[in-house]
Amino acid sequence: MRLSQMLFVTLREDPAEAEIPSHKLLLRAGYIRRITSGVYAYLPLLWRVLNKISAIVRDEMNATGAQECLLPQLQPAELWRESGRWDTYTKAEGIMFSLVDRRQQEMGLGPTHEEVITTIARDMIRSYRQLPVHLYQIQTKFRDEIRPRFGLMRGREFIMKDGYSFHTDEASLKQTYQEMYTAYSNILRRCGLEFRAVDADSGAIGGSGSTEFMVLADAGEDEVLYTEDGRYAANVEKAVSLPSAAVPSTFTSFEKLDTPNTPTIESLAKFLKCSPTQIVKNVLYQTVFDSGQAVLVLISIRGDQDVNEVKLINELTKLASNYGGSTVLTLTVPDEEAQGKWAAKPLPLGYMAPDLGDDYIQPGGEAIEAKFLRLVDQTAVDLKNFVTGSNEAGYHVVGANWGEPFTLPKLVVNVRKATAGDRAVHDPSQTLQTARGIEIGHIFQLGTKYSNAMGATYTSESGEELPLVMGCYGVGVSRLAQAAVEQSYDKNGIIWPVAIAPYHAIVVIPNITDALQVKTATQLYTDLNAAGVETLLDDRDERAGVKFKDSELIGIPYRVVTGRALADGLVEVVERATGTSQEIAVGDVVGLLKERIAAAVA
Ligand code: ATP
Ligand code: MG
Repeated sequence: MRLSQMLFVTLREDPAEAEIPSHKLLLRAGYIRRITSGVYAYLPLLWRVLNKISAIVRDEMNATGAQECLLPQLQPAELWRESGRWDTYTKAEGIMFSLVDRRQQEMGLGPTHEEVITTIARDMIRSYRQLPVHLYQIQTKFRDEIRPRFGLMRGREFIMKDGYSFHTDEASLKQTYQEMYTAYSNILRRCGLEFRAVDADSGAIGGSGSTEFMVLADAGEDEVLYTEDGRYAANVEKAVSLPSAAVPSTFTSFEKLDTPNTPTIESLAKFLKCSPTQIVKNVLYQTVFDSGQAVLVLISIRGDQDVNEVKLINELTKLASNYGGSTVLTLTVPDEEAQGKWAAKPLPLGYMAPDLGDDYIQPGGEAIEAKFLRLVDQTAVDLKNFVTGSNEAGYHVVGANWGEPFTLPKLVVNVRKATAGDRAVHDPSQTLQTARGIEIGHIFQLGTKYSNAMGATYTSESGEELPLVMGCYGVGVSRLAQAAVEQSYDKNGIIWPVAIAPYHAIVVIPNITDALQVKTATQLYTDLNAAGVETLLDDRDERAGVKFKDSELIGIPYRVVTGRALADGLVEVVERATGTSQEIAVGDVVGLLKERIAAAVA
């Protein structure tokens, strides 16, 4: 392609809308244009990158025997009602775009495709002889994200490869899951990314085991905890660790003390000269189940620990049926406005005790449960003579115990947040380290969640009618493209890994009025492309400096310059990643670049 014929527009200044380097660079270098919040046009250079990533994804998927297909983006609400996800995905913080068509049918734009694929499996899979089977697609997904940001990282319209596998049993699912683990590792390695596979929470998608593939970068929205020995890595949402041992309490008798201005653990520990591990803190949440029922959750946890809200949501989901629901719609810390809707009197915030009375909740409140749901985290269960609130502002009690005066909540949960510095479970001599990650892929063992809900069964060898066992596997193709930039750039621009660069090389003509330069450059451009080295020709009527800057900004791995040394039959070849430059004979350029590119994508 000749730059003079391309829609090629680069920006000198960082666009105000962009916060992170990769987003700024993709905009400046003319790869993307924002159309509205979370919605981008993929311009020709980026489209080439996306196609290269897709080709690698296809190659790895096909190698496992998975088959490509294309599923509809417009999906009927009925299917989502069958799986029980319509409300969770369209109400409150749900992320599905929904609409009503001219026949008054409710529809959604596909954020994911479990429902569609399960209905196909239900219709088409009859016998164990058809299993296992695995279908995938590469397609635009729609999600009305609460906080679309960072360009392609969190879009409302983005490209994903999603695949779904069906099995007779868990053992067969585990085998495919393992193959996907390998395929995903290959995809990221071949795209030239540094990544880590981590244990992950299965979230609203459901199921048991899941692994996320994280590209490590400071701009990542996820936190990964890992150990130096490489044996443990998990998303902080899922991570487990050993809490430090509690310091034995120095209080010996139960007393209520005047503790002015101590609403935080830090201020209280300082005032009482005690360890935060001797304190039981009581945290209040408000949750809403899909039945519409709101419940106030009071959770007691050791003072030095924090609640992991993802783990708490998972615990609450298990309790949803007690409240006429099947899942959690929202979990929030009730602010003043929310408290105003149900509090019978001002709450002793910062001084709450585990026995905070149910009379703080207005009787007869409409959709709010009249009693607190009381939970205790494992870290608080064994504490003796602890410090905690008194339900009166400015006062705490010390020397308290479960049994006397407080009743230990029946529901003991494990919802503490693992943090960097904690001891690792597999080897307490290892401490957890922290890193930021961009989630690029996520593979799940779904089990029978969707097949049970939607009645997708098969007939086993012994003639039994059994639910299909499912797995699902997603890679963010457009997010991957930007993550590659986030991991590889310098002050002059993008540095594409060769395997996914839009072009391998760019031939720059410093002076288009010099006939020899034009002739040599055009010949090189033709020969390189003929030899399979994907090459651009910068034949624009621009100053040489502008051309060099642009070639660096757009991040093409090799630049060939037909400059002054041409008189001696030499051209300059510059490698973008290292900045190294060498003068070589015109006749050697094709061979050298072919070799370099083959080595880089091997
Ligand atoms: P996240 O936790 O980042 O919201 P997710 O868990 O919702 O992601 P999945 O449903 O597992 O994502 O989707 C599979 C992959 O699709 C993700 O690993 C990610 O690479 C990509 N992806 C998800 N949401 C977006 C988005 N809004 N924009 C771009 N890519 C996305
Ligand atoms: Mg995920």
